[in-house]
Amino acid sequence: MKDTGQNTAFVEFKSVQKSYDGVSLVVKDLNLAIKKGEFLTMLGPSGSGKTTCLMMLAGFETATNGEILLDGRPINQVPPHKRGIGMVFQNYALFPHMTVGENLAFPLEVRGMGKSEREEKINRALDMVQMGDFSHRRPAQLSGGQQQRIALARALVFDPAVVLMDEPLGALDKQLREHMQYEIKHLHNSLGISVVYVTHDQGEALTMSDRIAVFDDGRIQQLASPQELYERPQNSFVAGFIGENNRIMGTLVSVKGDHARVKLQTGEVITAAAVNVTTPGQQTMVSVRPERATILTNGDQDDLQTLDAEVIEVVYMGDLFRTVLKVAGNENFVVKTRNTTGQNLLTPGQKVKIGWVASDARALDP
Ligand code: ADP
Repeated sequence: MKDTGQNTAFVEFKSVQKSYDGVSLVVKDLNLAIKKGEFLTMLGPSGSGKTTCLMMLAGFETATNGEILLDGRPINQVPPHKRGIGMVFQNYALFPHMTVGENLAFPLEVRGMGKSEREEKINRALDMVQMGDFSHRRPAQLSGGQQQRIALARALVFDPAVVLMDEPLGALDKQLREHMQYEIKHLHNSLGISVVYVTHDQGEALTMSDRIAVFDDGRIQQLASPQELYERPQNSFVAGFIGENNRIMGTLVSVKGDHARVKLQTGEVITAAAVNVTTPGQQTMVSVRPERATILTNGDQDDLQTLDAEVIEVVYMGDLFRTVLKVAGNENFVVKTRNTTGQNLLTPGQKVKIGWVASDARALDP
């Protein structure tokens, strides 16, 4: 993957590899430049190497090969507490026998800071997370969300240039998690710090990040803004991992510029955006987002690529209808239609057409 932030890199992984057993690489040749003030998320399934990358950056794991730089300086040999990096984990890791104030004082004492300066910084950090009145409580006297705010304040209290967060909201319920996503995002915007965030939750990554590095199998599969990732996934893994995508299988007929012609298993030939397919005859997956397809009940529509379809099921979901159809051999083709009338006019077994703008379909190497 081409590096886009080379000139302004604040955190940089250069050809970094990691093996725990000396045999298999769980991080394979990682090259990643993170800009100052950027919110970068490492997103991927469990076991794809995200936490290992974060731990190497924090200094709790050593890289087997390659170099990690912070503000231009190699840090491979620098111990964790001298890297100036704040950390927040899923399970808070607050000291249970200490008050909130003492928890926050700890990283400052470690750095040899005097009492009056400590108090000023603690008060400021607690105010940042709207917990100014809780200094004398113990962690057990706080809710999960409050504990996570304190963990955040503790990571910020010594003014780190970079804060690392590993699934920090994983233990919270859905509503609180979504609320905290916005709080962390706003805090990031107002403080101008760099954040490296690890999650397996794509919705969280899309909501919070400036850029997302999608990991699979120890490699970055795509590094891009949330919009770019969602709109233009570069391979079938990213297309399947970010959002929902319908797949129709076929073989490549030809590629001309950005356009691919694909012959489907049912014989129709359709046009789609050519992503990473090149060789006529190769197996090709056409992917279409559920919200980009339209159900047509009155025949073809000239400006759309259309195919015959049969309605299998319609589910009323309040804000939208989720219709499952049989399309070109796929019996689980989903179309999401905004509920503007309160009425579903489709019935199972009904023959319809579905259509989409040709460039909204992407031809990928499966
Ligand atoms: P993720 O954060 O994406 O879930 P990890 O970085 O935790 O992935 O793990 C990547 C791979 O490395 C996994 O196969 C995991 O089992 C392995 N692994 C992680 N930590 C260790 C460790 N301390 N010792 C040995 N193997 C590990």
